[in-house]
Amino acid sequence: MPKINCSVSNCSHNDKNTCYANIINVGGKSAKKDSDTCCASFLDSIAYSSLTNIINSNSNGCDVIACNVCTCTYNSNQLCNSKSIDVSGENVNLYSETDCLTFKTT
Ligand code: SF4
Repeated sequence: MPKINCSVSNCSHNDKNTCYANIINVGGKSAKKDSDTCCASFLDSIAYSSLTNIINSNSNGCDVIACNVCTCTYNSNQLCNSKSIDVSGENVNLYSETDCLTFKTT
């Protein structure tokens, strides 16, 4: 099962709702709700095309989640220790329009 389920279909790292970035950075330092968070690794596929065709198709996708949301219960030394996360965003133009839906306040 992929560690990152992502509905941001116009991100270059996204293939069928799985993220294939090497690492992602989730941001939103003092977030109080999921809409205060974002995936700072979003790359608009209009500018960057698809980057997923260079990865091993057997891979389960990205499993390294750096995160600076210190108010989240899953944050452990700036890494996310949740088993999996859900990232969302529709018609995204800017990374700040994405959300980490797994955010859970401490
Ligand atoms: S928005 Fe973030 S989590 Fe989603 S595919 Fe892009 S880099 Fe990965």
